Amino acid sequence: MSFECLVKDKIAVLGEVDVMVVGGGSAGCCAAIAAGEMGVKVGLIERYGFLGGSSTQILDTFYGFFTPGDRVRKVVGGVPDMVVNRMYGTGDMFLRPNTYGAGTGVTYNPERLKLVWDELLDEAGVKVWLHAVLVDVMKEGDRVVGVVIWTKKGFYKIRASRVIDASGDADVCHLSGAAYEMAGEIDPAQTLTTTFRMSGVDGKQYEQAGGKKMLMAKMTAGVETGRWDLPRKRGSVHEMVQGGCVATVASRIADVDATDFEQLGEAEKIGRRQAFMYEDFLRAEVPGYERAKIVGLSHHVGVRETRRVYGEYRLTKEDCIEGRMFDDAVLLCGAPIEDHRKNDEGEDETVWGYVKGEGVYGVPYGTLVPKGREEIWVVGRCFSASHDAHASCRSMGQTMSMGQAAGYAAILSLENGIGACDVDVGMLREMLYLRGVVIDVPRVRAAVGRDEWGMNAVGDGCRRQKN
Ligand SMILES: Cc1cc2nc3c(=O)[nH]c(=O)nc-3n(C[C@H](O)[C@H](O)[C@H](O)COP(=O)(O)OP(=O)(O)OC[C@H]3O[C@@H](n4cnc5c(N)ncnc54)[C@H](O)[C@@H]3O)c2cc1C
Repeated sequence: MSFECLVKDKIAVLGEVDVMVVGGGSAGCCAAIAAGEMGVKVGLIERYGFLGGSSTQILDTFYGFFTPGDRVRKVVGGVPDMVVNRMYGTGDMFLRPNTYGAGTGVTYNPERLKLVWDELLDEAGVKVWLHAVLVDVMKEGDRVVGVVIWTKKGFYKIRASRVIDASGDADVCHLSGAAYEMAGEIDPAQTLTTTFRMSGVDGKQYEQAGGKKMLMAKMTAGVETGRWDLPRKRGSVHEMVQGGCVATVASRIADVDATDFEQLGEAEKIGRRQAFMYEDFLRAEVPGYERAKIVGLSHHVGVRETRRVYGEYRLTKEDCIEGRMFDDAVLLCGAPIEDHRKNDEGEDETVWGYVKGEGVYGVPYGTLVPKGREEIWVVGRCFSASHDAHASCRSMGQTMSMGQAAGYAAILSLENGIGACDVDVGMLREMLYLRGVVIDVPRVRAAVGRDEWGMNAVGDGCRRQKN
């Protein structure tokens, strides 16, 4: 749908920027910080009243910084390190092993993270417009030259030389006619999840009664005996930075097109119902939870995938599983494929696939460039990947790294007066390297003890010397 019905000429121009970032999730914030630090005029629009997207709306753990297994490597750096360092400095994070072996996670206080995103974007000189919803793009011929936003005050236009689509749903690409695959079109779409947080949990009692193993056994028994109508036999529960509180990723809603507001609205209601079903189950069945209560649901139901853009390169399952390296890689990933979906029998399942060899693969620059486009980049969960590859490369360590890479690519494109496809990837990689991004697999083992974040090479925007 386009807003051609509105007389665009009559919409007031709010401003003009060099780089416009659409969507203030983990990918968009990092893109804006990276571009803003280079001194150009950067704008960011976000539909809600705070930044972070899923990182603050739904979750509290960054995965993707560390590879799983025994030979743990830290494969993310640069701007994402700046984000974690802030929370390390205020005691708002710790490291923790993943429930199902996806590698060590960085668990943080999502409320603190909202503040950190504000601070980092301010310091990078980014003009942030909150409560501003993208509703259309401005075009000259095929080229996007700005965005149209809706606010409570009315519609506005913002002109932009370059646009980074970090909306999660590829809204810019959709409105500008770029090609994409819709989740569910080829492979079953990943399910949606309403996350929730509980306070009043007695962690000691829970651990003494068998901890995670006991919980999974009780969930399975609850479902198999028909005593509890839970949507899953398994689910992850982990401690939060806030003492006595746990975060839960367990609800599951299948067969939803999350770009359809009516379906999404229904999913919101189902998600809430499931969350309180889990509360009843946990209080009744699990030692340590007798006095626990839900203190917060995710800001909205968590959506894993919708539109995935067709880019200059499309990351495949084989690229991930075989641990392929590319000369034009702009970030690394070691996260396994973690595909939450409904199987042929209609049952819910999670399919896992681990990266072979060094346990790491490279993500080519072309996955961030919508096919044939000169002025747009696409980052985060709508980047160019097949369903399976996306199920591996969607952790926030990687979405943040995509943002930083696109931010610098936009700068190179502006400085040299060239299109996205003509950016010198060698130069981009050097820029990334000099600013702390990990583009070669490190040989040193990472420190992943609970409080060992600072023992790794984590520079604050880390400016390395050229070799
Ligand atoms: C249930 C669930 C659990 C997950 N668990 C983990 C985990 O534990 N760790 C991990 O690392 N990853 C996890 N993931 C994956 C990860 O959260 C996402 O892949 C990642 O956060 C995507 O980041 P993004 O910036 O691309 O998109 P988002 O975080 O979705 O950000 C998009 C932003 O754009 C804004 N926006 C959208 N449309 C518009 C518009 N039209 N106008 C203005 N603003 C707009 C949104 O409000 C949002 O702020 C999980 C995902 C889900 C759904």
